Amino acid sequence: MGDHKSLVERLIRLGIIRTEKVRRAAETVKREIFVPKRYRNMAYVDTPLPIGEGQTISAPHMVFMMDELLDLELGQLVVEIGSGSGYHAATIAEIIAPSSEPPHRWGTVVTVEINPILSIQAYLNLREAGYSSRVHVINMDGSAGIPLRMKVDRILVTAAAPDVPKPLFDLLREGGKMVIPVGSPSFLGQDLLLVERSHGRMIKKKIIEVAFVPLRGRYGWN
Ligand code: SAH
Repeated sequence: MGDHKSLVERLIRLGIIRTEKVRRAAETVKREIFVPKRYRNMAYVDTPLPIGEGQTISAPHMVFMMDELLDLELGQLVVEIGSGSGYHAATIAEIIAPSSEPPHRWGTVVTVEINPILSIQAYLNLREAGYSSRVHVINMDGSAGIPLRMKVDRILVTAAAPDVPKPLFDLLREGGKMVIPVGSPSFLGQDLLLVERSHGRMIKKKIIEVAFVPLRGRYGWN
């Protein structure tokens, strides 16, 4: 078991949640809306949970570690590859487009999900949680990026890729950042990378070993 407040307090004590904005997002977004009904009593346990289709909602500590690494700011345009339940996208929306700010200052999250069933579920969860005007769900293979006419500030990938997909890097604006797990598809030997675009070049930094489901599609595992 576990309750929302003590989970957030624990993640602060552990140094996972470090900034006020990530703390606010962790407190505001209700994870119980995003987990399947039969797991609702475990929504605030710090563990991944099955969401159907062989996929999982990440553990809260991983979500907020990634949100801290992304260095999110009010008003940004953020792309997430791997919507899953929609929970992670909602936490990002709560930082770049907080409920406390007027809508004209809001940024946007575009989240991409390859599985049609999960993409509908993510949309419904996000709507129930009140994020449908801040988060847009697209059902497609996002491994090669998405057809956008502008560069984006931040990219989050929530499935493990063989390497940083070049088309995703090309979507980043100068100074933009991407957080992506890279490594084997078998949950072993994956590194979480912080990627930055600096003077057009790719700067990669290894953060920690992680275990994510494999990225599918053109630049993923098949
Ligand atoms: N961020 C999610 C957890 C994601 S699990 C959450 O908060 O719940 C990883 C998701 O990535 C799965 O739903 C999987 O279907 C999706 N995925 C895998 N390959 C993909 C691809 N090429 N494009 C888009 N989504 C993909």
